Amino acid sequence: MIQRTLCLVKPDAVKRNLAGAILDMIQKSGLKIVALKMLHLSVPQAEGFYAVHKERPFFGSLTAYMSSGPIVAAVLEGEDAIARYRTLMGATNPANADAGTIRKLYAENVEANSVHGSDAPETAAVEIAYFFHTLEMVG
Ligand code: UDP
Ligand code: MG
Repeated sequence: MIQRTLCLVKPDAVKRNLAGAILDMIQKSGLKIVALKMLHLSVPQAEGFYAVHKERPFFGSLTAYMSSGPIVAAVLEGEDAIARYRTLMGATNPANADAGTIRKLYAENVEANSVHGSDAPETAAVEIAYFFHTLEMVG
């Protein structure tokens, strides 16, 4: 099934000029970028995005980090895009990520782990709509 998923290149990776390398890995995997922009979230905007994690002990630190610098947001499209992009990202904690994944290559730690990817069709739809207007997506 053709799916769309939300990709964020997080502040640690944008800061180290890795956005291009990460988007290159995504494109080389065969996933298509159908929307793309750079933005800098406020703390409330980061809290809104990660609302599902608001009871977790790392929520305050995570939302401070996610609003600490610019991010790149993209919508990826392709056959089974949600699972394929999660596989390409690697495990949340880079210590557990497989060789060749984005997080194994670039993540600094479990929080500053370089990329976000949606985890299911329902969350993908909500997350894409959080960042992109319909008219900002091609195809
Ligand atoms: N996170 C963290 N500490 C943890 C688990 C997660 O700081 O123990 C951060 C990390 O940046 C992660 C994000 O919270 O990417 C969202 O967590 P989730 O479990 O949804 O991981 P993901 O879907 O990003 O792999
Ligand atoms: Mg998640």
